[in-house]
Amino acid sequence: DIRPITRALLSVSDKTGLVDFARTLAAHGVELVSTGGTSKALKEAGLQVRDVSDVTGFPEMMDGRVKTLHPKVHGGILAVRADAAHKAAMQEHGIGAIDLVVVNLYPFEATVARGASFDECVENIDVGGPAMIRAAAKNHGDVTVAVDPSAYATVLDEIAAQGGTAGATRRRLARAAFARTAAYDAAIAEWFTSVEGDTAPPSRAFAGTLAEALRYGENPHQDAAFYLSGIARPGVATARQLQGKALSYNNLNDTDAAFEAVAEFDPARAPAVVIVKHANPCGVAEGASLVEAYRKALACDPTSAFGGIVALNRTLDAEAAKAIVEIFTEVIVAPDATEEAAAIVAAKKNLRLLVTGGLPDPRANGLAVKSLAGGLLVQSRDNAVVDDMELKVVTRRAPTPAELADLAFAFRVAKHVKSNAIVYAKDLATVGIGAGQMSRVDSARIAARKAVDAAAAAGLAAPLTKGCVVASDAFFPFADGLLTAIEAGATAVIQPGGSIRDADVIAAADEAGIAMVFTGVRHFRH
Ligand code: 5GP
Repeated sequence: DIRPITRALLSVSDKTGLVDFARTLAAHGVELVSTGGTSKALKEAGLQVRDVSDVTGFPEMMDGRVKTLHPKVHGGILAVRADAAHKAAMQEHGIGAIDLVVVNLYPFEATVARGASFDECVENIDVGGPAMIRAAAKNHGDVTVAVDPSAYATVLDEIAAQGGTAGATRRRLARAAFARTAAYDAAIAEWFTSVEGDTAPPSRAFAGTLAEALRYGENPHQDAAFYLSGIARPGVATARQLQGKALSYNNLNDTDAAFEAVAEFDPARAPAVVIVKHANPCGVAEGASLVEAYRKALACDPTSAFGGIVALNRTLDAEAAKAIVEIFTEVIVAPDATEEAAAIVAAKKNLRLLVTGGLPDPRANGLAVKSLAGGLLVQSRDNAVVDDMELKVVTRRAPTPAELADLAFAFRVAKHVKSNAIVYAKDLATVGIGAGQMSRVDSARIAARKAVDAAAAAGLAAPLTKGCVVASDAFFPFADGLLTAIEAGATAVIQPGGSIRDADVIAAADEAGIAMVFTGVRHFRH
């Protein structure tokens, strides 16, 4: 799907690399069409250029506000070359094809940054440029678009090597083009917000549309809003709320954490329940039924579960609903709910019930965004799943099949616990979770302490950690964290490995006669 380039439209504010690029295009026989300033620069360099006003039959007018906004330009970009009707329309109206669009926009961001006046900023809102970029990107099947001088070399290389651009290249350039126009408009919207001086709700729509303004943020003195990214994925953003008060910022954040965690548990294997407090799981379990899974999850840390979020990987049924409403719960989220279950929840007016219509795929690609002062941190989401990892036994003793099942379970949970994460598990239920500590030993100690408390609350003689397994989201830098877990009763360990002191940690495990497996994959969650 190589597309030759016979005609290019060049209209750039940033003229970096322009002349060399255009000269090489011309040498390959490409006809150059251009707007005022760009055309002038090319002519001064001795190149043959046709003015866009000559193509449209209209002069550039209104201070450049209207230059390229014309069917002779947009028809030439948008026409599908293989479509007979499009071809006929081109012929009828004397429209020539434009195969390459080279546009970078009025420097709106730079104009704002140098403290220009309101009117000057407005004048630097490019209209025709984004229109051409979007037209070319939409028609990437036939048209190549370059929004940045960094793309020039690629385009020239492909023309030289194969007489035109490859389909994959045009798609990649189209993606960059839409990213550019989206960011451009977001910057304009953000500028308006700063000028108006209103902060409620924050209107930075960098990758989304406003779903609703929230009453407040993490704290009452913070403004907040909820945006939809527009990417369809069963989850909190697109869930249906069947009942209960409006969700707060913290509710949304915690419910998302709970639902993403429970989605790790394949509903075809077993019913699973995750209880979350402050974005950390405080109880997770699989069971023979949802109600059994819920009771096992609750037993891990009944104190913390008070006022928590309960997420289920299957349709909420009446038995589970009855058990959940026994204690104060903020939110229940599940793929669906039976009518009977919904009726049971309805007795608790304030309790929110969300149904998502399905579970998201934990292996799906996606982006995770975090803000920092003056910027955004963006990464691909952690879509690593323990079932896909090559587990390596590093100790003399290998885990038993039961231990192995619990190890995979515990590592699945550890992925959703803030670092440093230590998760004790037994019989496919967590029995102690240590989250968010600055040292791994402390997480191991806290998790063990919680297991003792939970056993005491249940009137058991021994803590539930006796004979449990333990998962660590990252390697043990020293043996001490592992020794704490062994002391708490762990008989098998799962962790990424990779510390320079792995040998010490393995020796400590061997000495205690416990089994240890390395995943080779880390699940930091900060
Ligand atoms: P030049 O320096 O060639 O005169 O202008 C180039 C700039 O004009 C580019 O940044 C391009 O995005 C922008 N541009 C091209 N066509 C139009 C139009 O019809 N309206 C507006 N407002 N800008 C345009």
